[in-house]
Amino acid sequence: MKPHDGMYIDGEWRPAAGTETIDVVNPADEQVFATVPAGTDADVDAAVRAARAALPGWAGTAPADRAARIAALRDVLAGRRDEIAETVAAELGAPLAFAQAVHADLPIKVAGSYAELAAGHAFEERIGNSTVFHEPVGVVGAITPWNYPLHQIVAKVAPALAAGCTVVLKPAEDTPLVAQLFADSVHEAGLPAGVFNLVTGLGPVAGQALVAHPGVDLVSFTGSTAVGKQIAATAGAAVKRVALELGGKSANVILPTADLAKAVNVGVANVMSNTGQTCSAWTRMLVHRERYDEAVALAAAAAAKYVPGERIGPVVNAEQQARVRGYIEQGIAEGARLVAGGPEAPRALGYWVSPTIFADVTPGMTIAQEEIFGPVLSILAYEDEDDALRIANGTVYGLAGAVWAGDDAEAVAFARRMETGQVDINGGRFNPLAPFGGYKQSGVGRELGPHGLAEYLQTKSLQF
Ligand code: NAP
Ligand code: MG
Repeated sequence: MKPHDGMYIDGEWRPAAGTETIDVVNPADEQVFATVPAGTDADVDAAVRAARAALPGWAGTAPADRAARIAALRDVLAGRRDEIAETVAAELGAPLAFAQAVHADLPIKVAGSYAELAAGHAFEERIGNSTVFHEPVGVVGAITPWNYPLHQIVAKVAPALAAGCTVVLKPAEDTPLVAQLFADSVHEAGLPAGVFNLVTGLGPVAGQALVAHPGVDLVSFTGSTAVGKQIAATAGAAVKRVALELGGKSANVILPTADLAKAVNVGVANVMSNTGQTCSAWTRMLVHRERYDEAVALAAAAAAKYVPGERIGPVVNAEQQARVRGYIEQGIAEGARLVAGGPEAPRALGYWVSPTIFADVTPGMTIAQEEIFGPVLSILAYEDEDDALRIANGTVYGLAGAVWAGDDAEAVAFARRMETGQVDINGGRFNPLAPFGGYKQSGVGRELGPHGLAEYLQTKSLQF
């Protein structure tokens, strides 16, 4: 991937308004290997104007034609799979096999799902004497994080395009290259000029300008709860719609009847995946008091398989490394017992963190309450099911979770009482069509599948 020195606006790469740039760093070795322009208000304004100008044409395009363009985009992305994986491996530090299987293949699959959903969606319905049209919300301002950089772009842009919206994207400053690759792919797929626009830049500058721009009708944001609250306040003051995909502190609840070894091994793998940088990771493992010691031993053994540089990469930047290390030190200071890893970095060069597991964690500890966003698992003991439920629901978050039991019905009964948006039952497989999003402070709205498409639509009723 050769970096562009401009912004993708109105169907072409054009020079940035300002001269500031952002260094792109490989977190595995701290080397700067590319630079991209840092957008300003002027770039955002030009991009929003282009998106507004393109809106009537794209909104008026037949859904089948929009579907065909999204299918073409899927095909271009599929053809560039290796380049996507290499780009994400370099700018995020993901191991190449994981970058291929997840960072490249998942967004290709999601793009394909929206080609189908756009073609099949009922954009018109009859309710009594009314005809109800499901119309695009308008211009979408999309702001994405670095942890699943292409997936989060596609999970916003594909449904927005399927709905007939036009888009301005501000990707994370740490992972701008895969966003440029995506813009190139949109171009190659032949989408009309202005339907998709890219402005690289810093959150408080370009991101803030996009949220505040009067030409944006809906802001879709994924990232930290702190920034999400700010964005919701700005958008709320202008009566703009928002979709917020925020943090998580999800519980992996292992009921006494569960297959303990399987539940623990899958649970550890879930947390270590993407170096713990997953908002929906099950970072709290809840085990019955009677099987607690056995579970801790299994988890410590499982952690040993995650060798930094092999199955697990570095974290994304120096700030995240310092943040995660701070949480590990705080866990020790608050009395949790380290059974794997610790605060020392396993390598001197690069932003590495040791896969870390804490036992004897109690629900009120900082490491049991706050999102760490690194390869750190907390194991908590519960006395009975009601206690497990209190612990599982006892954070401000509610994004995901897991329940393991001797049979699915028992696990489902527990899952129904959880305050969270997604629960995997006995190791259930990821479904790219299932609605994804949070209860409580984990967010507002849903992404993926038909529910993700509905976020970008508004209704108009005609009475006869
Ligand atoms: P963040 O600051 O919330 O970043 C997310 C996106 O928002 C980035 O594109 C960011 O730009 C942009 N942004 C930042 N400030 C903004 C503002 N005032 N107005 C508009 N846009 C703004 O997250 P982070 O700094 O990358 O990570 C911090 C913590 O957030 C992590 O440790 C983790 O706990 C959480 N996080 C959660 C998720 C998730 O999927 N839920 C993803 C990433 C991080 P810049 O790239 O320039 O900052
Ligand atoms: Mg930030």
